[in-house]
Amino acid sequence: MLFDKFQTMADFQAELAEQHVKPFGAVTEKILSATEGVVEGRNVILAGTNNYLGLSFDPRCIEASREAASRWGTGTTGSRLANGSFTEHQALEKEIAEFYGVDHAIVFSTGYAATMGMCSTLAGPGDTILLDADSHASIYAGVKLSGADIIRFKHNNPEDLAKRLRRLGDRAGQALIIAEGIYSMLGDVAPLQEIAAVKREYGGYLFLDEAHSMGALGETGRGAAQAAGVEADVDFFAGTFSKSLGAIGGFCVSQHAELEAIRFCINAYIFTASSAPSIIASTRAALRIIQEEPQLRQQLWDNAHRLYDGLKALDLPVGPTASPVVAVEMEDRKATIECWKALMAAGVYVNLVIPPASPSTNFLLRNSISAAHTSEQIDTIIAAYSDLIATGLITPTSKAT
Ligand code: PMP
Repeated sequence: MLFDKFQTMADFQAELAEQHVKPFGAVTEKILSATEGVVEGRNVILAGTNNYLGLSFDPRCIEASREAASRWGTGTTGSRLANGSFTEHQALEKEIAEFYGVDHAIVFSTGYAATMGMCSTLAGPGDTILLDADSHASIYAGVKLSGADIIRFKHNNPEDLAKRLRRLGDRAGQALIIAEGIYSMLGDVAPLQEIAAVKREYGGYLFLDEAHSMGALGETGRGAAQAAGVEADVDFFAGTFSKSLGAIGGFCVSQHAELEAIRFCINAYIFTASSAPSIIASTRAALRIIQEEPQLRQQLWDNAHRLYDGLKALDLPVGPTASPVVAVEMEDRKATIECWKALMAAGVYVNLVIPPASPSTNFLLRNSISAAHTSEQIDTIIAAYSDLIATGLITPTSKAT
């Protein structure tokens, strides 16, 4: 039967309904601020958004958006190639290229379209792509579409990348290497100095998805490559406007002039409507703010450390270093769902992540922090986890069998 493959998901949905939990697609009825909302009838602290700098509620972004909607209307009703390229889109492309200190930029309607579109187009049949095994679904979708030979290297493992490039011999110089800055599920950062060194030794082109690291890392917020001092080794930077910039949309920037030709070969650019000008306007405002207010980035990291240190002090299985994403790894699905439910009851809304969205076979309670969270809110989140331990729903690492 055509639908047989969906039975596992249907069974899982039934299990969740039986337990009266809705971890996927829980409906937010009201947004009170960048960090608070009413979800499924409860007032909750939003601890699972990617609103890293809290800009979704910045009055300057809202005003820019409002003004653009009045001036340009609600949508472009066409693709960039047809009738959807407005001066707003061009202005943002110029500004994002300037922000990265390069000459070429493409703005896409979503981050997914940016990574999927670029990865499906940059390499084609006869080419080779080497991608980090924990790459985002949009990267996997893109490389699959590309028709190129696909080789996965072990997550964040430059030695494995080097080994696989070495095996390619002469073809290594033409290969496309794909990595991310901060990885979205565990919050770990790619070892970019080592990856760049491997690229320098064997050749190839480096494509870096800075979706979670733009705005969060680097002296001016350009991301993980800037923080690692290896921007010159990156051929293509991709990212999204839906996280630190608080809107929606995506981009790719590059110093390669070929990007202008590539633009017209990307189906995810050509055959989809361009972003509404109101979205572009708020993104432009947010891009200005992240450059003018580095203190937001400092606040994000102060908050990230507060949450990470608090959860680590509870002896919970969190990652090796503090990050704007702090994930608690769980082994048991039922227990993870129970924890999610209890956190909601305590007024804390986090992401429940199940394989294959989580990188291993583990389940995750994924917390993401914002510069807009107050210390009190972070302490409430930590206290909610402490209660999970007190009620036996979660076992601290040292007591795990
Ligand atoms: N790349 C990565 C690494 C992501 O985590 C995401 C979204 N979670 C995307 C791309 C897609 O971005 P968007 O949600 O803005 O479409």
